[in-house]
Amino acid sequence: MGFPTGAQGLSELAMVCTAETKAAKQVIAQVRACLTEQENKVARLENFGQVLTALGKSWKEHDPGKRDNAYFFLDQEGKWAVVKELIPDGTKVIEDWREWREYDTSERWWRPLELVSPRYRAIPLSEVLRGSCPVGHSGQPVVEHYVQAFDGPEGDSWLKERMVVCADCRNISLSEAQISSERMR
Ligand SMILES: [Zn+2]
Repeated sequence: MGFPTGAQGLSELAMVCTAETKAAKQVIAQVRACLTEQENKVARLENFGQVLTALGKSWKEHDPGKRDNAYFFLDQEGKWAVVKELIPDGTKVIEDWREWREYDTSERWWRPLELVSPRYRAIPLSEVLRGSCPVGHSGQPVVEHYVQAFDGPEGDSWLKERMVVCADCRNISLSEAQISSERMR
């Protein structure tokens, strides 16, 4: 085609450029939307993975929520529960407080607990408290997140929130949250 040789050709080429610009901008917008979607997906999946990991080990903490985010399943009464199928095979569940105190001595405060404390109800997965997943509309476990959000001279701040955790949709939906200057667990 070469460079336009007349006034009309010049303005026509300018119009073509405008159309090409518009098309390129549309591609950029699509790529950006795709990027945002993937970034959101990464954040969602990372968060989901962290919750799964925490569910597997929060019960090993001496003071859940004090240092790290703690996540627990709940029984039908809303008490923290440990799911029998999800703890390592052979893990002993202690129900007697006297037996527990013999195990959880001051020398082991810095080591993760290897036995399940009587403070938790050990229940099968079929008995955990469930709520409805807003994405797939099926009944899924309700999980409680508990953490000391702030620790300072003016006072502490503890966060307790409940969420429905759906492994099918990889979705976590917050159902209720509570903040207090006092421990709630
Ligand atoms: Zn779901």
